Amino acid sequence: MTEFAKLAKFGGACVSEPDMYRRIAALIRDDATRRFLVVSAISSVTDSLLAAVSKPRAEKEIDSFVAEMRRVHLRLLSKGEPAGDVAVEAIEALCTKLSRLLYGISYTEEITPRVQDFALSFGERLAAQVVAANLRTDGVDAVSFEADQIGLMTDENYGNASALLEETKVHMAPFLRRQEGAGHVSVITGFFGQSPEGKTATFGRGGSDYSAAVVAYALGLPLIEIWKDIGGFMSADPKIVPEAFPLAALSYDEAAELSYFGAKVLHPRAVQPARASGASIAVKNIYDPKEPGTRIGPDTVDRTGDVKSVSYVQDLTTLKVFTAGAGVKEGLLSHAAIALASSGVNVYTAATSQTCIAFVVESDAVGQAKKSLGRLPPTAVDRIEVAPPASLICFVGEGLGYAKGIAARVFRAVAERGINVQLISAGASMVAYHFTVDTKDLERAVQAVHREFFGQPIRVAGGAATG
Ligand code: ASP
Ligand code: MG
Repeated sequence: MTEFAKLAKFGGACVSEPDMYRRIAALIRDDATRRFLVVSAISSVTDSLLAAVSKPRAEKEIDSFVAEMRRVHLRLLSKGEPAGDVAVEAIEALCTKLSRLLYGISYTEEITPRVQDFALSFGERLAAQVVAANLRTDGVDAVSFEADQIGLMTDENYGNASALLEETKVHMAPFLRRQEGAGHVSVITGFFGQSPEGKTATFGRGGSDYSAAVVAYALGLPLIEIWKDIGGFMSADPKIVPEAFPLAALSYDEAAELSYFGAKVLHPRAVQPARASGASIAVKNIYDPKEPGTRIGPDTVDRTGDVKSVSYVQDLTTLKVFTAGAGVKEGLLSHAAIALASSGVNVYTAATSQTCIAFVVESDAVGQAKKSLGRLPPTAVDRIEVAPPASLICFVGEGLGYAKGIAARVFRAVAERGINVQLISAGASMVAYHFTVDTKDLERAVQAVHREFFGQPIRVAGGAATG
């Protein structure tokens, strides 16, 4: 039993092509400490499941949907896998169960968050079967497990659950250590665990990264590898900033802020369990395993620099709640925040003044947000205004709280390009500042911030920008 075993998490893109399994098997052969794997669903399977449960379906539609799920997963099984193997049987059984569930949803024309979570969990259940079977074909002694069956315990917040770390440690660690002792590589489903009432609860989209950190916490593993089909974090989105470059290291806070504010590299909550146990996270590229990728850990706090990376979130809207004296009406902020949270509206950022509280929410959630704010007592709210859709830009750096004049440089760089800054939030976190701009200005604003701190792209003959 190796105390220094690693947790290796493989994202959807790393398990979606037959050729990827050889890469995973090679990684396990190269490093005998990779004993615990967490896997996501095959690419786009979770989206398809979500679409399937979004409205009642005719029986024919359900049958063809499940047949397609079955085909997609059986097709990925390596040819060498003997027919009738446990994986084929398990995939058939999962598809039968999924089909019954979808029939049930269609007959009752009702879907609760709990039932939805159960339906969405089938993507990971199917993927874990395929991954373990293909690893066995490749000579790895792999066994698959469903996280909710082996003690990954969660709260009851279906759709966005959190793991109960200590309970998970008690329930899951001894079981997984026994698998290790027996020489098995455990392939564990990401994305969900078991709620106190014994039901499946998911961690929200992209939640397998969080699962990986939870399993690592339970086992006390010092390293979590997040394998993707792209590299780790970058100084900006290279689609907008061609000269953006990869980042070798980030602190827990920097990684969490970037992930929350749009960098699609890691689940925003994955750093919580890692920080709690002092584990490091290495975000790695499966096509380039020798590259170190981005490391996030207890020893990667660097306060000497200024801005380290710029991220953004599109399709946001600012709701302004006006009151005769927002500052003096005690508790308006908390009432409003509770009203939004209890109707499931996620507030990205907020700013307050004497007469107004501004909340930035996803544009899709504006209707719901207006409804729930509209229920506040009329004495508290004079009127609610909805601003045109906007984008939020976030810049992070552990040095932000220490170096002087960084915010001034950012806003001057943006202003020099004639871009109007709408709402600013600074100082809440020592490592992240953010502001909103009209979406039409988003790209130029992100470029302005990046170029202020990392320089203009070098123009080579022919006009292409290079790093
Ligand atoms: N399959 C889930 C999703 O697509 C979880 C994950 O991929 O991490 O959101
Ligand atoms: Mg996914």
